[in-house]
Parts: sequence; structure tokens; C-alpha cells
Amino acid sequence: MNNKTINTSNQNSNNNNNNKILVTGGVGYIGSHTCIELIAAGYDVVVYDNLSNSNLEALKRTEQIAGKSIPFIEGDVLDKQLLHQVFDEHDFFGVIHFAGLKAVGESVAEPLKYYKNNVTGTLELLEVMQAHNVKNFVFSSSATVYAEEETSPIDESAGRSCTSPYGQSKLMVEYILEDLVVSDPEWSTVSLRYFNPVGAHPSGMIGEDPRGVPNNLMPYISQVAVGKLDKLKIFGSDYKTIDGTGVRDYIHVVDLARGHVAALNLIKKHTNIGSLGFEAINLGTGKGTSVLQLVKAFEISTQQVVRFQLTERRPGDIDAYYGNAEKARQLLGWQAELTIVDMCKDSWHWQSLNPNGYR
Ligand code: NAD
Ligand code: UDP
Repeated sequence: MNNKTINTSNQNSNNNNNNKILVTGGVGYIGSHTCIELIAAGYDVVVYDNLSNSNLEALKRTEQIAGKSIPFIEGDVLDKQLLHQVFDEHDFFGVIHFAGLKAVGESVAEPLKYYKNNVTGTLELLEVMQAHNVKNFVFSSSATVYAEEETSPIDESAGRSCTSPYGQSKLMVEYILEDLVVSDPEWSTVSLRYFNPVGAHPSGMIGEDPRGVPNNLMPYISQVAVGKLDKLKIFGSDYKTIDGTGVRDYIHVVDLARGHVAALNLIKKHTNIGSLGFEAINLGTGKGTSVLQLVKAFEISTQQVVRFQLTERRPGDIDAYYGNAEKARQLLGWQAELTIVDMCKDSWHWQSLNPNGYR
């Protein structure tokens, strides 16, 4: 008797050819730009977002730019029952997981909220994916997972350790993914470690819409230029950098979005030869820009004046932080194309057309 059986009922969806992607947090800043690039690349997109830090107007405008309607489910990644329903209804190739809380300072004040949302939320999502045999996953990690003492340019093999609950939540998810792929080699997971995302879609229709006074440099500069804020406080002018101000690796959000498409394409390519396991990849330009250099580039490229004042260092900041972008170039065939001038022009275009964001 021939005992050989072929189990067709439990095939991993890694092997299917469908192009449908669940984008959690797809109404947010990076998620909305990524939906546009995914659709342009031929993917079908379903967005899942609880709107805790976003506005549905962003999704409407994303649909206009993409020229396609985008199925949307208002839901929380902590709502496992709803997630199961969504996976019952759709046959996904994979998930890009942007949904998360991202304010470092708030995470120090409310760590439980951050661990629950960012870690428990991801666990719920991964469990639902596993139950539905969807094992392709792209995760929004952050360059903040690298240990502070690592010197720039930082590559992916650098040591990891975090000081804030926000950073810890990203690092914990990376550890979870590393264990998951060992337990089940059908998983393909890519953890994208973003450096400093800035800029907006060149149409000026979608962009970053921080609530309250921005913490990050580029939205602060734009709001000074548009007259909403009086002047920029430059935190520290005595760092060991080109001009004494802090250096970061700013990356245009459209380039960043395209990096996600490249990550999915890599996973797709691997479905023919076996799963990818876990890959952590920097998404940055590989170049550092100082605060003063960014202010000057903004003024020159937008013809706006940015009033500023040099003040003391911000606690917790370090002098220079930029990535090595070589792994992304080699593995993803991706590299950042847009310049600091593009980042400034597009930020300003979005800010000047939408002085109050989506409101
Ligand atoms: P964002 O706040 O604009 O987008 C996140 C989206 O997720 C929002 O639309 C929000 O409503 C949604 N969301 C949050 N918690 C949710 C939950 N429990 N269930 C469903 N939806 C939820 O942020 P962003 O700048 O687009 O960042 C996207 C991801 O990238 C985040 O995970 C963030 O931590 C990570 N990241 C961002 C940066 C940055 O500087 N923007 C840098 C590194 C990493
Ligand atoms: N920064 C500043 N004034 C601000 C906000 C930021 O001088 O109002 C500086 C900050 O010290 C750092 C750089 O700008 O050197 C980028 O800061 P951001 O908060 O945007 O990113 P992160 O520090 O998280 O990399």
C-alpha cells in the first residue's frame, strides 16, 4: 500500500500568487504613502486602522492619488475577533504592520499603553496570521533599536538596546519575530529599521499631521515657516559635528514607502525558493544632515524664512545618527533617490496647502 499522502488543505499562503496585502495603520503618515506605492506596483490593498492617530480624510486623498478605492476596516489590532473576520473575508499574501503608537516621550509616561498596543497588538496579529496560514510579514521597526554607543554609519549587525518603552516595544517585536521563524520556517519576516522619515507626497495632498506642537524637527520647521510657531529652538550647538548641531539621516517618506514594496517583492521572490526567515534592514539614505544644514536647505528650496534660536541640548539626544544603507541596496535592490531639497520642498508644499493638516 502506498502511504504517501499529499496535504493540500493546509498549504501555506506563502506559496500562493495573490497580491492582496493587509496594511495595518494604513491611514497614518507612512502607511498612506505606502498604499500609493503598493497600488502603483500592482498590489491590492486593504487598510485596517483604529484612527487613534489619523484622519479618514488621509485615506480619501490616498484613494484619489492612487486612482483606486481602498477597502477600509476601522478596527484595533487588539481586536482579535475582528482580525479573524477580516482574514476570513480576504485571501492575503501578507501584512505590512504600521499600526503602533510612536511618541517616545509619551511612552515613558505611559509604558503599559505602549507595550499593550505595540507588543500585545502585534502578537494578536501574528497569531491570527498563523491561524490563517498567512506568513509573510513586514514590520515597521526603527533605528532607535540600536544601542546608543554604536557609531554611525550604523549597520544591521550593530548591538541593540533601548532606553524608552517605545524603543523597547520595537525591539521586543524583533525578538518575537526571530523566535517565530525558528519555530516555523514557513515565515518570511522583514523588519525595516527606519531612520528619520520626513517629507510628503509631491502632490501636497497627504503628509505628516502631528497632533499639537510637533516634537520632530521637519514638521517644526514647516510650522515656523507657515507662521503657526514663532521660532525653532535648535537643541544643542556644541555637539562634535560639522557645525555643532545634531546630525540625523533624513529619508523622504516616498522613498521609505517604496522600500516596503521592495521588501514585499523580496518575500515574493523567496516564495519560489523557500521562506526568508527574519531579515532586519535599515531604511535610510546613509548620509547625515545637521539641524542647521536642514534649516538652510529648507530656506533656500522654499524661499521661506525659518526663525531659529540656539538653545541647550535636549535630554537623551546624541550627536550623530545615520545608517549604512548597503544591505537595502544589495538585498532589496532599493536605495533612496530623493534629496534633502525634495524633502524640504515637499514638506513645505504639504504644509502650505494644509496649514491645519487634515482638520
Ligand atoms: P502614524 O501614527 O501616522 O500611523 C500609525 C497608524 O496606526 C495611525 O493611523 C493609527 O491610527 C494606527 N494605529 C495605532 N494603534 C493602532 C491599533 N492598536 N490598531 C489599529 N491601528 C492603530 O505613524 P507613522 O509615522 O506612520 O508610523 C508608522 C509606524 O512606523 C509606527 O509603527 C511607528 O512606530 C513606526 N516608525 C515611525 C517613525 C517616524 O518617525 N514616523 C520612525 C520609526 C518607526
Ligand atoms: N531638534 C531641534 N529642535 C526641535 C526638534 C528637533 O533642534 O524642535 C533636533 C534634535 O535635537 C535632533 C534633530 O533635530 O538633533 C532631529 O530630531 P527629531 O526629534 O526630529 O528626531 P530624533 O532625534 O528622534 O532622531
